[in-house]
Amino acid sequence: MKYDIIIIGGGLSGLVAGLSLAKENKRVAIVSLGQSALHFSSGSLGLLGTVDGKAVEDPLEAVKTLPAEHPYSMLGAERVKELAVKVKPFFADAGITLRGEDSRNSERMTPMGEFKRCWLTLDDFITREDLSKYKKVAVVSVLSFLDFYPDFVASGLRKLGIEPSVSYVTTPEIDRLRRSTAEMRATSIGRQLHGKALDEFADAVMKAAGDADAILIPCVVGMDDEEPVKALRAKVGKPLYCVATTPMSVAGQRMQTQLRRRFERLGGTYLLGDNVTDGRISENGEIEYIHTVNIGDEKLVADSYILASGDFFSRGIIAEPHRIYEPVFGLDVDVDGDRDKWFDRNFFAEQPYMKFGVAVSDDFHPLKDGKTVKNLYAVGSVIGGHNALKEESGAGTAVLTALHVADKILKNN
Ligand SMILES: Cc1cc2nc3c(=O)[nH]c(=O)nc-3n(C[C@H](O)[C@H](O)[C@H](O)COP(=O)(O)OP(=O)(O)OC[C@H]3O[C@@H](n4cnc5c(N)ncnc54)[C@H](O)[C@@H]3O)c2cc1C
Repeated sequence: MKYDIIIIGGGLSGLVAGLSLAKENKRVAIVSLGQSALHFSSGSLGLLGTVDGKAVEDPLEAVKTLPAEHPYSMLGAERVKELAVKVKPFFADAGITLRGEDSRNSERMTPMGEFKRCWLTLDDFITREDLSKYKKVAVVSVLSFLDFYPDFVASGLRKLGIEPSVSYVTTPEIDRLRRSTAEMRATSIGRQLHGKALDEFADAVMKAAGDADAILIPCVVGMDDEEPVKALRAKVGKPLYCVATTPMSVAGQRMQTQLRRRFERLGGTYLLGDNVTDGRISENGEIEYIHTVNIGDEKLVADSYILASGDFFSRGIIAEPHRIYEPVFGLDVDVDGDRDKWFDRNFFAEQPYMKFGVAVSDDFHPLKDGKTVKNLYAVGSVIGGHNALKEESGAGTAVLTALHVADKILKNN
């Protein structure tokens, strides 16, 4: 089978690259093994929240201070800015409403009632700034729901001088799930809450909220798109916001579904549940074809390939006791020194291994045995040189490198 571009990995970076290329009428296939980091996401995107342990106010300015090997430094501060302003419209085109300022970080609320820096957040999610408008806020959770902590959220509100109330609601559909506590997860509840069940949920939330100025609920609504959240907000008739739950994430799955749906509507092929096992690299340093488990001996062929297979979490790179490797092509991985230097015994320190990833040239071609693979690009968290967790830069790196590489491929062809 022959495509213009084959993308290995269908998480945030693979989908953003795929969508950008499909919009320009390229024949694109995404091969993706399974769940991505989006399924665990907070519903907020980080661009750059912390540098050298210090909080960042303006991520587009702070990018200028990063070391040369950082993916943002490889893009250059001007290019980061140029790409960053495209993110909200890009997601809006897939039906995903993001808010926040391009050049100012805000703070989202965690399920523990703390605040964490973020860049953009889904429209239905609460930020610290939103809360400054309200005096009385009702925290309304779902009875027996395991992945949200209303009392901690209430305590976070009190610290802001807000008077909170805490209550729990249920509906006949949710009661059916409650027969098995294992089912009381955000995504199981999210699958129930539409149509009549959503109306009943809205009535229960309204009653529980009493005379509060605003309502916070855990993000259990809107598995496939934003419509159920909009309907709930309209029915409740007062400001209602979501707070992230612990995984699985309804908001993240919504984003994944919306991006994939838009990609497929544009004619893209999404091969879910398949694993790219290997590929042949020719003498002159180009990929000739790849193999996948499901397609077997048949070769998948493209003019260009994009590696978007994620970091350790998604097995885009793999760690064994004495080696770290990229499993599909055996690409070079930026690993610092021997095993003792891979980690810090202080669990909370900046762990060196978090920066490990595929080594790339300035134009995002991965290296194999020190030489660039000419028709292969790497995007997202498979690239080394950054610590997404410490820097709060995960989604930003995924989206901006994907947009950049897609542009490059379009210009080259
Ligand atoms: C648990 C978790 C939660 C996070 N939450 C946030 C957040 O809330 N906000 C934020 O800004 N950042 C967050 N991040 C950072 C995250 O890295 C980025 O936001 C981003 O989603 C990474 O996208 P990606 O496409 O590079 O990789 P991934 O999302 O990891 O996707 C890689 C995909 O490739 C597939 N794959 C791997 N190997 C193969 C193969 N050989 N063949 C076929 N498919 C393959 C995997 O199955 C997976 O679906 C989180 C990271 C993790 C690990």
